[in-house]
Amino acid sequence: MGLREKYKQAKAYRQKQLLDKFFVKSLLKKYRLTSMAAKEIGINTKRLKQAPRDHGTLFRRREQLVAKMKTSVENFLSRDDNSRVKAGKKSTKTHKKDKQQIRLLTDSLKTLHLKYTLEMDSKMSYSMFCRLKPFNIRHPKPSDRETCQCKRHENLRFKAARLKQLSVIATADLHDNTKHMVCDEMSKDCMYRDCNSCRGRRVPVDEFDGGQITQWYEWKTKRVERPSENDATKTVTMTVKERESGTIGNLVEEFQNELEKCCKHFFNIRNQYQSLKALKAKLTDKDIICHIDFSENFSCKYQEEIQSMHFGASQRQVSLHTGVMYTNGATESFCSISDNLKHGPVGIWAHLLPALEWSKEKFPNTENLVFVSDGPTTQYRCKDNFYLLSTVPFGMGFKSVNWNFMEAGHGKGAPDGIGAVIKRAADKAVLCGHDIMDAQSMQAAVRTSAVTPHLFLVEDDQFTEPTPNPLSDVRTVPGTMKIHQVNNNYVLQFCFFL
Ligand SMILES: [Zn+2]
Ligand SMILES: [Zn+2]
Repeated sequence: MGLREKYKQAKAYRQKQLLDKFFVKSLLKKYRLTSMAAKEIGINTKRLKQAPRDHGTLFRRREQLVAKMKTSVENFLSRDDNSRVKAGKKSTKTHKKDKQQIRLLTDSLKTLHLKYTLEMDSKMSYSMFCRLKPFNIRHPKPSDRETCQCKRHENLRFKAARLKQLSVIATADLHDNTKHMVCDEMSKDCMYRDCNSCRGRRVPVDEFDGGQITQWYEWKTKRVERPSENDATKTVTMTVKERESGTIGNLVEEFQNELEKCCKHFFNIRNQYQSLKALKAKLTDKDIICHIDFSENFSCKYQEEIQSMHFGASQRQVSLHTGVMYTNGATESFCSISDNLKHGPVGIWAHLLPALEWSKEKFPNTENLVFVSDGPTTQYRCKDNFYLLSTVPFGMGFKSVNWNFMEAGHGKGAPDGIGAVIKRAADKAVLCGHDIMDAQSMQAAVRTSAVTPHLFLVEDDQFTEPTPNPLSDVRTVPGTMKIHQVNNNYVLQFCFFL
C-alpha cells in the first residue's frame, strides 16, 4: 500500500505529524478507523492521542533566551577594551533604520569569544557568538586607518601579517604570539620582561631564507610641506603608510624586538581597562569619573550664497570638548562648544568648568574627582594643566583630584563617540536649513535635534590665563600638589590633597 510506504519513509517527526494530521482530522476519526489504520499503515496511535506540541511557547522561550544572550554579547563587545569607536561623524551603519556609530574590534573574534566564555563563564559556541555580534561592530578594514590610533600596534600587525604570509610564524595574531614569549600573560613581571624564567624568550619561527628580500608596510610620521593660501608653504606633520623593504632575517629580528617591547604596552592597556572597570564598579556617592577628550574642530557651514558673500574662502571653526561622567548609578555625557580654538591647559579648563559646575549641581555629594584622558602625547599632560588641576576643582568643593593617563593611542572611546554624535546632529541641522556660523548657532542647532549629551557654550572671556602664571613657579604652590603615585612611564596618577 502506497500510504504505508510513505509513512515509513517519513523520517522527520514533522512529516509524520503532517500525515497524522491529515488522517486524524479528516478521515480516521470520521470513520472510526484509528486502530485499523495503526495495523494497516503503521500510524502511531499514541501520537494521535497526544496533545499537539505547543510550538508557539517553545519558540517564544527560545527567542527570549537568544535576546538575553544577544544583549550580553552586545554589552561585552561594546566595551572599550573589546572594540573602539570609529572616529568621524560619517562612520555609521544603518540596519533596519537603526543608525549606529561603527565600532572596530580590537582583537580577532576568536580571541574575544574565548575571553567572553572565560569572563561570563558561558558555553556559548563560537558560531553563536559571531551571529549575535551587533551589526555596527566589525573588524577594522585597511580604509579604517586613522591617524590617531596606536601606531605601535599597527606596525607590529603589519610585520606579523607578512611573516605569517611567508610561513615564518604560525599565527599573525599578536595576542597568540605574545603567549609564546611569556609564562603568564596576566603576570606583570612576565609582561614587563622582568621575569627570570621567560625574559629573552622569543616567538618560535620556522625555517626561512634570511637573505631573501621582502616588503611590508609601516606607518610613519613625516613632516610634509604643503602650499597654503598665501603662496607660502607650511609644514604639517602627517602619518603616512609606507612600503618598507628588507631581508626576511631583518624583518624577523625587528618583529621579535618590537613584540618584546610591546608586551609592556599590552599589559598596561589591559590593566588600565580593568582598573577603570573596577573603579566604575565600586563608585560611591562621593566619587565621579570624568573621561574627556578634545574632538576635532568643527567647520562652520552655511547656505552657499551667504558663505561666498560674507566669508570668502576662509571657513570658521568651533572647538568641541567632549566627555562622559560616571557616578554611582548614573552616566552623563557632555560636550562644550566654543569659538575659541585653544586646546592648551587654559582651553581645557575653560571647557571643563561649566561641565564640572553642572555636575556639582546634579551630584552635590561628589568629592573625589577622577579624570581619565588619552595618553602622554596630548595637551593634558603638562605642568600648566597640573597647576590648574590642583587649584580649580578644590575651589569648587572637590576634596581629591586624580588624573589617569591612558596608554598612548588607547584613551579614546566614549568621548570620541560623543563628538561624532554632536557633529552628525550639526550636519543634519545644516541640511534642514539651519546656518551654523559660530559656537552659539551650533549649540542652538544641535539642541533642536534630539541628542542626549548636555551642551555648554564657552565664551571667549573664559579663556583667561590664570594668575599668577603657573609656568613661573608650579612647584612652589605650598601644600597643593603632591605626586602621590607614579606607577610606570605610562600610567601616571597624581593625587592632590588639601
Ligand atoms: Zn597600542
Ligand atoms: Zn615569566
